[in-house]
Amino acid sequence: QSRIGVLALQGDVREHTAMLHRAGAAVRPVRRPAELAEVDGLVLPGGESTAMSRLLASFDLLDPLRDRLRAGLPVFGSCAGMVLLARQVLDGRPDQHQLDALDVVVRRNAFGRQVDSFEADLDVTGVEGGAVHAVFIRAPWVEKVGEGVEILARVGDDTAAGGAADRIVAVRQGTVLATSFHPELTGDDRIHRLFVRTVSDVA
Ligand code: GLN
Repeated sequence: QSRIGVLALQGDVREHTAMLHRAGAAVRPVRRPAELAEVDGLVLPGGESTAMSRLLASFDLLDPLRDRLRAGLPVFGSCAGMVLLARQVLDGRPDQHQLDALDVVVRRNAFGRQVDSFEADLDVTGVEGGAVHAVFIRAPWVEKVGEGVEILARVGDDTAAGGAADRIVAVRQGTVLATSFHPELTGDDRIHRLFVRTVSDVA
C-alpha cells in the first residue's frame, strides 16, 4: 500500500485525505521535513497559493520539497497546488515561491471575477467511465506547456475576449499531475485513483 502525504499547512486537506483513503492509499498529513521524507507521493491541496507558499517557507519545507520533487516524488496539485507546482505564475504575488516541478506557465485566478466559481463536465485523458464533473473556484488555467507536458483536459471559457476559447485545466508531466479544478470536492475519486496508481507504479 502506498503512503501518500497531504501537505497540511492550509487548504482542503481533509477532503483530499478522505478521497485518498477511498482510493486505497495510506494517508499521512505532512507538516515537517521528517514527515515529507516518509511518503511515496504527495498531494498539494486547493486553498490559497500565496499563503501556502509562505507557510512552506516558514515550516522549512520549501527546500526539502524541491529536493524530493527533483528526485521524482510523484505529486498531485489541485488548484492552488497547481499554481505552486508551476515553473511560472502570471498574476501571482511577487513574493510567491514556485516549486518549479511542472514545465508550465499558469495564470492565477484566471477565469475572472465574474465567474469566481463554476462547474463543468470534462473529458479527462486517462480517466475512464465518462465525464468528470469539475468544480472550479478562483481557478488558474495553464497558459503555456513545455514539451514534456501532456494536456489531459480543457474547458470552454465564455468570457474570453474576442469569443469563446478553450483553456487547459489538467496536465501531467511524468509523475506530476495537476488540475485547475477540485476533484476532492465532488465525491468522484477517479482522479485520486489515477494518482494512487501513479504512486504505486513508481514505489
Ligand atoms: N486562487 C487561489 C490561488 O491562487 C486558488 C484557489 C483554490 O485553490 N481554490 O492560490
